[in-house]
Amino acid sequence: MIYKGKYKISSPYGDRKLNGIVSFHKGVDFVGLESKEIISPVKGIVKSSAIITDKSNLTWEWGNYIRIDTEDEYRLFFCHLSERLVRVGQKINVGDIIGIEGNTGYSFGSHCHFEVRTKDNVSIPPIDYLEKLQQNEELTIEKAIKIIQENATLDDNTMKYLSFYKYSDSLILKLAQAINKNK
Ligand SMILES: [Zn+2]
Repeated sequence: MIYKGKYKISSPYGDRKLNGIVSFHKGVDFVGLESKEIISPVKGIVKSSAIITDKSNLTWEWGNYIRIDTEDEYRLFFCHLSERLVRVGQKINVGDIIGIEGNTGYSFGSHCHFEVRTKDNVSIPPIDYLEKLQQNEELTIEKAIKIIQENATLDDNTMKYLSFYKYSDSLILKLAQAINKNK
């Protein structure tokens, strides 16, 4: 996710009507409800950190924006920021604060237009991308135990019993993965 706390989506990805004109919204508009700090959902490198004021260049609409490229060659765009807190070439880790949500560029109200593009510059649904990231997040034993307890409603004694088993670590990870797959 691109916020630490709660957020809402003010405009989803896809066709939308703005002032009577239907156009394709290539990103998702997020509004942070608890914090306006934008965090990176992935590891990557900052490719752009800029504001373009020349209105003949359409990128001016993004206001203050940051582009992060990931190791698997996705391009992430964070737009309309009030502040940019990273510089071009900087390496970014998951959870690093990269900027502050704002209302710069072609924007009406504070939000972050978040866009994900492939290396061929084609936009893809950002929510699907973020959900996949969360699924791939490294599963630790502690996280796995939590998933199993929450979903299989096993009590503490049963979990303790499971943990004594010789191969318990790999078994617990496999169980949690199976639960995640079926969600
Ligand atoms: Zn938008």
